[in-house]
Amino acid sequence: MLENQVAIVTGSSRGIGKEIALELARMGADVVVNDLSASEAAKEVAKEIEAMGRKAMVIAADVSNSDDAKNLVNTTVKEMGRVDILVNNAGITRDGLLLRMSEADFDSVINVNLKGAFNTIKHITPVMLKQRSGRIVNMASVVGLMGNAGQVNYCASKAGIIGMTKAAARELGSRGITVNAIAPGFINTQMTEVLPEEVKKTYMTQIPLGRFGDVSDIAKTVGFLVSDGAAYITGQVISVNGGMYM
Ligand code: NAD
Repeated sequence: MLENQVAIVTGSSRGIGKEIALELARMGADVVVNDLSASEAAKEVAKEIEAMGRKAMVIAADVSNSDDAKNLVNTTVKEMGRVDILVNNAGITRDGLLLRMSEADFDSVINVNLKGAFNTIKHITPVMLKQRSGRIVNMASVVGLMGNAGQVNYCASKAGIIGMTKAAARELGSRGITVNAIAPGFINTQMTEVLPEEVKKTYMTQIPLGRFGDVSDIAKTVGFLVSDGAAYITGQVISVNGGMYM
């Protein structure tokens, strides 16, 4: 389905990003695995992709740094020949109540989650404009839609992602580039593993489907958004949250 297409997935050495990278490879794409460093975990993901008969490479980049993001895109084009799909998945949390949240914790979350996506989109846009095609998928969050106590920085970054997705979709649509966001609910990963049991129990009572999400629930949605079937979908926020927020 995605044969001869090249995808960049940011923050893909573990968690949701890893599963997205593997899913796109299963669908036939060659994949650039990105994370802060070319860690063993990142190399393992690339190996798994190569074992499927696809091309893969690891490019270390801190997406919050514009030069790093530029290098990520340029190295991909140089080594892989093109780039068709960008998934902005890299994200961090620095939770704390508003009154106690430090300026540094506010800034770092905005810098990675929101500015990071801006940096990669900015540098990939000239390539996709030239190709007259491209698919961009940005990772938002259910809390970017509904808010969450203790996550003012994170909610702001994810709500920002939603606004940026819609603006970019309007700018790039006429050149055959779609830009969409996914708003996951509670997904079982290392990011959510650290939450106290009480908090997890409370979340569970709010989920009509009665389970937390799996990384594959998100990866399959990315797979759909980059497939031919989603050619007429742009500027949308797809909630994948078991009904937690409607
Ligand atoms: P995770 O912490 O398991 O993985 C995030 C990855 O991003 C890590 O490999 C990390 O090293 C990488 N990363 C962090 N900063 C980076 C940077 N500056 N540059 C490049 N890579 C960087 O998190 P996850 O649970 O897999 O979440 C993935 C995305 O999904 C995030 O954007 C997160 O906000 C979003 N999300 C997660 C959930 C959930 O329940 N897990 C819910 C909603 C949204």
